[in-house]
Amino acid sequence: MMVVSRRKYLFSLLVVLLMFSQSIYLPAANAATVQEVDFRSDNYPNNYIEGSKAYDRVVKVSPTVTSYRLHFARIGLANGDRVSVSSSYNSTTQEAGTIYYYSNGGYTTDVWTPWITGPAYVNLITNKDGLTSTGYVIDQIEYNGTSSPNINSAAFFPNSFSSVSNISVYQAPTVSTYGYSSYVTNALNQLDNISNANIGYTNSTSTTAQVRISANNNSALDYFALVQPYDSSGKAINETDSKTWSYATMVLNHGVMTKWGFTASNKQGTVTHEVGHLVSLSHQMNLDANSIMKTGKKNNTTFTSLDISNIQYRW
Ligand SMILES: [Zn+2]
Repeated sequence: MMVVSRRKYLFSLLVVLLMFSQSIYLPAANAATVQEVDFRSDNYPNNYIEGSKAYDRVVKVSPTVTSYRLHFARIGLANGDRVSVSSSYNSTTQEAGTIYYYSNGGYTTDVWTPWITGPAYVNLITNKDGLTSTGYVIDQIEYNGTSSPNINSAAFFPNSFSSVSNISVYQAPTVSTYGYSSYVTNALNQLDNISNANIGYTNSTSTTAQVRISANNNSALDYFALVQPYDSSGKAINETDSKTWSYATMVLNHGVMTKWGFTASNKQGTVTHEVGHLVSLSHQMNLDANSIMKTGKKNNTTFTSLDISNIQYRW
């Protein structure tokens, strides 16, 4: 009996010691959090032309994140190429307020940027030597504070149509010419089918419909697709204006989507994203959010539960 209870005692002591030694290695409660992300430059075209904005990636995090840094799993560059992380976007210099800059040809791995506050613009510039640049992969973000996706009013532009209960939609013949009609119908039906949201649409043959969709085949332009709202005097409405939308155009760029090797799913994802803009959803910039409203080439094709709950909140 004595032996057994001594063993029990020793065992209890061992557990206490293990707990104690483990606690030495526990991070402090306010330590930075590391989150896995996938933020990469893959599918950049070769011979990327400087001055084109589409190939910048913008990193924005929740307002409750006080500082963050990005981890490059790898950077692979041809001679003359460069990767930069900047604090602001400048169409001329491309690298205003440089936070991190890498321009050695070849291959490097496992690099952290310095700590960053505010948005960061990740930019890959490749020269015109005809060589393929493998670009970069950012696989982790470490942040102080808390990270959460943009929800409710924070997920929207400050402006919109006054109602989206029955949007009239005109599709120019070019939409069908380049093969985008079914993607448009699918995306509009997704919106229409969201429960507890007053959203509907009617196809129109009038070129003065509320939404006017067209497609082009211009690979020299720097966008996959875009939505531009206008006021009642036909003036383009800026993202931050508080005006009511009178009508909006949506342009789908078949040329750039082809250049970037878009699959049917990638195209559907882009059209769904643009249709999200039509109901005033702005970009969901948090890297950790699961949303069709994030920028870039998309692998998902539908509004996520986050997007749907935001749409239900607004409409
Ligand atoms: Zn967008």
